[in-house]
Amino acid sequence: MQSSFPSAHDAPALTAHHRGISVLTEDGEFLTLSIAEIRERLQTMPYPLVVHAPAFARKLGLHAPGQPCPWLDLLELFAFVYPARSVAPTPRGLALALGVEEERIGQAEADLLPLLTSLMLAELARLKNGPEAEFLAALTVRLGQAGWPWAGTVAETLGLHEKLGPRGQLPEDAMQPGDALRVWRVLPKWEDVAPRPPPASHPITSAEARARLTMLLGEGAESRAGQADFASVSTAAFEPRTMRGNPAVVLAEAGTGTGKTLGYIAPASVWAERNGGSVWISTYTRHLQRQIEQETHRLFPDDATRRRHVVLRKGRENYLCLLNMEEAVNSAASRPAGVTIALAMLARWARATADGDLTGGDLPGWFGDLFGHGNITGVADRRGECIHGACPHYQRCFVEHTIRRAREADLVIANHALVMAQAAYSENAMADDSEDGEEDSTPSRYVFDEGHHLADAADGAFSAELSGLEAAELRRWLLGAEGRRSRARGLKRRLDDLVVGLPKLETPLDAALMAAHALPAPGWSMRLAGTDGENEPPPHPAEDVPAQGEDGLFPMVQNAVEPVLENPTEMFLKLLRQQVLARSQERGRADHAYGALECDLHPLLPDLAQAGQALARALGRLAEPLRTLAERLHARLQDEAESLDSVTRGRIEAMVRALRRRAITRLDAWIAMLDALDHPPPADATPTHIHFIRLDRREKQRMGEQDVGLHRHWLDPTVPFAAVMAMPAQGMVITSATLRDQSDTPRKPPTEEGQTEDLYSEESERAWEAAEARTGANHFPAPAIRASLSSPFDYARQTRTFIVNDIDHGSIADLAAAYRTLFQASGGGGLGLFTAISRLRGVHSRIAPALEESGLPLYAQHVDAMDNATLVDIFRTEEHACLLGTDAMRDGVDVPGNALRLVVFERVPWPRPDILHRERRIHLSGGDTTGYDDRIARLRLRQAFGRLIRSQSDQGVFVLLDRRTPSRLLSAFPPGAEVRRMGLADTAREIESFLPRTPQN
Ligand code: SF4
Repeated sequence: MQSSFPSAHDAPALTAHHRGISVLTEDGEFLTLSIAEIRERLQTMPYPLVVHAPAFARKLGLHAPGQPCPWLDLLELFAFVYPARSVAPTPRGLALALGVEEERIGQAEADLLPLLTSLMLAELARLKNGPEAEFLAALTVRLGQAGWPWAGTVAETLGLHEKLGPRGQLPEDAMQPGDALRVWRVLPKWEDVAPRPPPASHPITSAEARARLTMLLGEGAESRAGQADFASVSTAAFEPRTMRGNPAVVLAEAGTGTGKTLGYIAPASVWAERNGGSVWISTYTRHLQRQIEQETHRLFPDDATRRRHVVLRKGRENYLCLLNMEEAVNSAASRPAGVTIALAMLARWARATADGDLTGGDLPGWFGDLFGHGNITGVADRRGECIHGACPHYQRCFVEHTIRRAREADLVIANHALVMAQAAYSENAMADDSEDGEEDSTPSRYVFDEGHHLADAADGAFSAELSGLEAAELRRWLLGAEGRRSRARGLKRRLDDLVVGLPKLETPLDAALMAAHALPAPGWSMRLAGTDGENEPPPHPAEDVPAQGEDGLFPMVQNAVEPVLENPTEMFLKLLRQQVLARSQERGRADHAYGALECDLHPLLPDLAQAGQALARALGRLAEPLRTLAERLHARLQDEAESLDSVTRGRIEAMVRALRRRAITRLDAWIAMLDALDHPPPADATPTHIHFIRLDRREKQRMGEQDVGLHRHWLDPTVPFAAVMAMPAQGMVITSATLRDQSDTPRKPPTEEGQTEDLYSEESERAWEAAEARTGANHFPAPAIRASLSSPFDYARQTRTFIVNDIDHGSIADLAAAYRTLFQASGGGGLGLFTAISRLRGVHSRIAPALEESGLPLYAQHVDAMDNATLVDIFRTEEHACLLGTDAMRDGVDVPGNALRLVVFERVPWPRPDILHRERRIHLSGGDTTGYDDRIARLRLRQAFGRLIRSQSDQGVFVLLDRRTPSRLLSAFPPGAEVRRMGLADTAREIESFLPRTPQN
């Protein structure tokens, strides 16, 4: 171990604030320096203490430092001392997490950092004699070998210098540094248990649901009007089903603040307990999954008990794959030292994590900022490479363990995309073979929270895309790396001994692998871009490997551009591209950069039909042997039932599932899409599907990279949603704060219980019908049970709403000035919402310095290199911070209290005027296209407004910077929220007088 590591004990410290950089020098001098001065000093300064080195570097106008970091980042020490624990990545956030009192935090000057360091080191010292002491010693030595700057201080704290030999080696009988990274050897094994019997069908009563709710709320809880009614009405979804394919559906609109999460947890937990089954609670985003999971702490306060009864489920690509980790560790010696540091930190986390969830779980959102996002994606199962029972780590695998825990749980918290995928697979499996075991025993009771997103989620789940990226990914899954430096294994390697020596299986496998050469070959995107002589920058060689970042463990090497003659997919893509470039209307550079160019599929370019037929034949030649292979593999399960061991059996089942899900279903969908080329929809009929061509430049792709594809969406995606849910679901609650459009909803004062009395009026009927259409509830045989619970908030007292009428919405400079003025008027705590990333960036660059100057730090999605959850954590923690964001911030942010007191929406959130929207408003609007657009915009405004008030003590202001806002949209705002139109200066004055002022840093 080197002796030249910096010591954290006498290190200088740096924090940023609006006056410049707060500095505590190594001599104890306390200064405030300008950015230019600190950049100069950094040349000679010993390693300084900082918090979030990449963000700090950005503040100084420097590149992110990378690993090993030349600074002592306190977050790295935090990740080492408190693994699997998150914290807002700012000096203040860290201080709060470490229990420092507000008065001591003050303005989070540089002298706070030595205190935080000593608190963490004190905790570390407590660990040196604990059960992990040996592991920590070995890990520290390995980190030291890789040059981790904290290694010296950590080694000293752990007392390692007494244990290390003259060459820095650990005693022979102790855990060795290399072994510290091999976490797969020590993680607990799961044990299979007998399959859970099907749940019983005992109903539950309203009284039981209310009693459970009272228990969850505990003594002296704030009583929320409508919450008990919500729990009560939800019990209808847990009635025994009376007819196959006819689930009981409760459609419940619960205004903001009703407390609907506990309102549905109460009946769901009673039903699960009584019947021995699982209730799946589904929401829209991973972040919201975590919020729901937090609420279950009231149900099971004890961690171990909760772990048995509540499981959070995500797609397998979100979890740490131990086989990928092993491969990464084994090759780390030939990679830059930063990779070893990242893997060591991942090993520290892997031994502490609850479930191995890499995204939005207990791995902090800022982990990737510090140690490289590519190093995280590199150890996840992103490409369906899992080899299941053939994997040496199968019995310690986080994914498999979570799937098994979910089978036994009372409550499974999932997301809409996963639930729909599971239901669709389960339906296909039933059609193919009812004996085909699924990963999850299909649940029968569901709660869909954020129900207003069901149509969007279904649109994603049931659409199909025949694009270069998708087809190239399938080729890689089938053929593997094809000589490139990659771990992609390919089908042959994954099947391995399951087919060797069995001609019945080898023959279709070989035929499929031969036919897979019809899919785009490496370098396809480069060839595609060069087809029309456009002045595009050359695409990056790794364009067909989007999941790997530059800092990935295994970045791809440059592939030679092979001439690929007559590749039918590439021929087809080339013509798609030609058509979309010829027909689309490019609306300026900004739209093109992050959006897409689109055109209708019909009428076709002259050669496109022929190219499509050739491709359909080629894909058919691939699908058929794969189908034969899957069938024959499956037949082995029956033919060799007596001789197959359970591991081989499990592998075969997994491979059959993978062949169907990843290849055959996809190929069938593509062939069906190609068939549509010859069948343009009759002009006067309502289509079931919409086909169009899109040229994408996705944000994660580099300049010059692009994808082109043929897309097929359901006209009404709630049709397939209802179709796949009808059989497995016996009952479901669909809930949201915004199910009905307020313009259709008659306004009557709420009753004392908070339940409106308008259920049977004519207008109300129209609103409910529209809500049923948006959620798919109208496609089930029995009518949904409707319920509406009003928000308990007094919006007239708690909010102010303004439309600013003297801003030129076309001018970024005017827009920026408006944001700056309003954020300054509220003293921070402002959330700025945008409908376009380009305008968000334009505003951010113009106002960030002025806001900093006023002591209001500004953070922004798409600008700051942090994930959304981290940005929201910072926003929640820093009372004067402001945050700019787009759709994700509009819908999923829960910031109670004074941290969010102002929402500024840049313009009316009209639906994006693309081909999909055009067709849907024609065919689904009932002829009222304006009304259709208005409803979408009103629901989005309601969602945004809903961010503002999260408790009865909150106060907040909502501002719309779009003077063109039609009055007919104003019913989006809740009763009592009066909307006033006025100039910017008057709005700022109103904000200043309405919002309570808080002392500013
Ligand atoms: S079973 Fe699959 S996901 Fe799990 S560790 Fe092995 S390869 Fe990775």
